[in-house]
Order: sequence, then structure tokens, then C-alpha cells
Amino acid sequence: MTNPPQHSPPRYEAAFWQTSQRRMFALLVAFGTLACVGALWAQAPNFDPLDRVALPVLALILLGLQLALLLRRLTVGVAATIAYGVTSVYFLLALEQQFRVFAPQVRMLSESTYWFPVLYAGAFLLYPPRRAAWLAGTTYLLAFGVCVNHLVTGASAGDPRLVGAVAQFLLVGAVMIIVQATFGVQRVQLLAEREAAYRDALTGLANRRAAEERLAALAQDGDRFTLVLFDLDHFKAVNDQHGHATGDLVLRGVAQAAQGVLPRGGVAARWGGEEFLLILPVLSTRQVREMLDTLRAQLGGQRHGEVTGITASFGVATAREGEHPDAVLARADAAMYAAKHRGRNDVQHADLQRTHHGGVPEAFPEDHGPG
Ligand code: GH3
Ligand code: MG
Ligand code: MG
Repeated sequence: MTNPPQHSPPRYEAAFWQTSQRRMFALLVAFGTLACVGALWAQAPNFDPLDRVALPVLALILLGLQLALLLRRLTVGVAATIAYGVTSVYFLLALEQQFRVFAPQVRMLSESTYWFPVLYAGAFLLYPPRRAAWLAGTTYLLAFGVCVNHLVTGASAGDPRLVGAVAQFLLVGAVMIIVQATFGVQRVQLLAEREAAYRDALTGLANRRAAEERLAALAQDGDRFTLVLFDLDHFKAVNDQHGHATGDLVLRGVAQAAQGVLPRGGVAARWGGEEFLLILPVLSTRQVREMLDTLRAQLGGQRHGEVTGITASFGVATAREGEHPDAVLARADAAMYAAKHRGRNDVQHADLQRTHHGGVPEAFPEDHGPG
């Protein structure tokens, strides 16, 4: 009962990320395919022996990944990882290849090396800093090995102009990895701070700020929803008789139980000291009753030291068409106070003015489902 319940980022935010990542991937596939076609077109009719095979294969793999993504056979994360892997292999092969003919003749590195910094930056966009550093570092070391091998033993061994070009190439890569790693660590810290700013430290639930923003988002989208506001009964007595630490344990237990009964798309928030808000998709009276019966039974069954039989007073309100969340919240709040005044351990529906008492619900009118 001591671990705060874990909760994933709000669903609407996750969905937003999924969509924008998919768009980004489609854009990269489009650019990648164009780049492959463009490179081949520029070489015609004297194709580089590697590019003649590798570029069509690379373009086909990218297009195949995009197709699999559209058919929902792959997640965008897996598709990006495969795309990253094959692209890195291609550029390493191209680096190896250019030391055979191009570099000894021209005494410089070809333009394909421009893409290595993009590979390094891409690793830090795709993965958390440690994994990205490992991946970019491995690519870098392989490139380093290829270059040093050819500068020491290859056809152009010791050519000072080529040594200069390679040194620039490797230096830029190293600086790029260090800069990206720094940004990557900062980004992780920022995300953690943002996450902490929206989470209640004691219970691990969404905090009031997160709940208010969720309500504001619902208002903006014009979505309807059901609110359940509940306040623990005689909680001050728990603190007074058993100590604040036990009171804290009770709050965590309540949070865990609330999180556990949430329907898909629901959010449980700590609204105030011992007051909780559930933001739910529109639920029928029957669905709310079933959910709250489970929650109330769990609260009643929890034991924290000597404290048992926790009860709460609940107010329920479902948004009417076009009703502002503040107004729905005010109705849920009034219903909750009505439940307190009726003697606590009670559920009041703002929309029904019907109640069920003491964990043994009265008969509810049959409802006709959500909406
Ligand atoms: P009622 O049934 O009317 O709601 O009575 P109550 O005693 O629950 O209401 P009251 O508002 O008088 O007391 C709320 C108590 O909640 C007082 C406060 O000490 C306690 N509380 C608020 N936040 C915390 C917290 O984070 N930890 C602990 N242990 N107690 C808290
Ligand atoms: Mg209370
Ligand atoms: Mg209170």
C-alpha cells in the first residue's frame, strides 16, 4: 500500500505524440527515397558499384517500413529503429567504399560523409541519452576504424590533405555527439520536471494543476464527461488519533484504489488534502454506481495500522451539452456536500438527485447507457 500508483501520461497527449511522430517518419521516408533516387540520377550512367545496389535497396526498405506503418503492422518506434539501422549501415559501407577509388583520386572525402552528423543527432532524437550515446558512439567508432585503417594501410596512406579531411570529419562527429548528449540529458531533466509538476508527490496521482488542464482541454474540445468528486469522511480524526503518517498511508491507499477502478480514458487526481476528483468519459448511472461500489468496498476493506473502514462522500455530475467544466464541477461539489449533509458515506448524483447509502446501494432507475 506504500507505493504510489504509477500512471501513464494523459492519453490525449500520447495520441498527439503518436500522430506527430508518424507524420515526421513519413516525411523522412519521402526525403530519404528522394535522396536515393536523386543520388542515382546524378551518377547515371556511371553508377558507383555500391550505390547501384544499396540505394534501391535502402529506398525499398524505407517505403516498405512506411507501408507497414500505414497497415499498422509496425509501431513508429520499431520502424524508426530499423530505418536508423539500415541507413547507418549504408553510410558506413559508403565510407569504406570511397577510400577505394574516390578519396585517393580526389584527396578529399565525398559528400556522403555530411550525413554522419545527421545520424548522430538522429540517435539522440530517437532514444534516451544513454542508449543514443551508445548507438552514435558505436557508429562513430566504426567510422573512425574505417578511416584510420585506410589512412594507415590504404592506397592513400599518409596523404596529408586526406588526413586533414578525415580529421575534420571525425572532429565534427565527436563535437556533434557531445553537443547532442548534452541536449539529450537536459531534455530528460526537463521532461522529468514537467512530469513532477503535474503529479501529486504523496499519492502519485495527477495533481490539481493536471486536472485543471485536463478539464480545460475537455472544454476546448467540446467533449462531454462525467466527474466524481469525493472527500474522505472524518479524516481529521484519523490524523488526530493515529498520527499524520498513518493519515498519509490512508491517502496513498485511497489513491491506489481510485486509480485501480478507473475506466479507460479516466483520470484520477488529488484535488485537495483528502479530496479526490475522477475525470471520466461519459458514464451511465449504472456504470458510475458499479465503479463506486467497487471503490467503496475497497476503501472499506483497506487496513493501515489500526485504521480500517475508510468511507467517503461522493458527488457525481455529467456534463450537459455545451456545459463548461467549471459548472459541472460546481454541481459535483454541491452533490458531494449534499452527501456530507445526509450523514456521509453516501453518493449523490447532481443529475438524478437519487442516492445510495452505506455501501448497500438503493435501486437505481434503469439507464439507457452513456450519452
Ligand atoms: P468531513 O467528513 O467533514 O470531511 O471531515 P474531515 O475531518 O475529513 O474534514 P476536515 O476538512 O475537517 O479535515 C480534513 C483533514 O485532512 C485535515 C487535514 O489535516 C487532513 N489532511 C489534508 N491533507 C493531508 C495530508 O497530506 N496528509 C494527512 N495525513 N492529512 C491531511
Ligand atoms: Mg473530509
Ligand atoms: Mg475536505
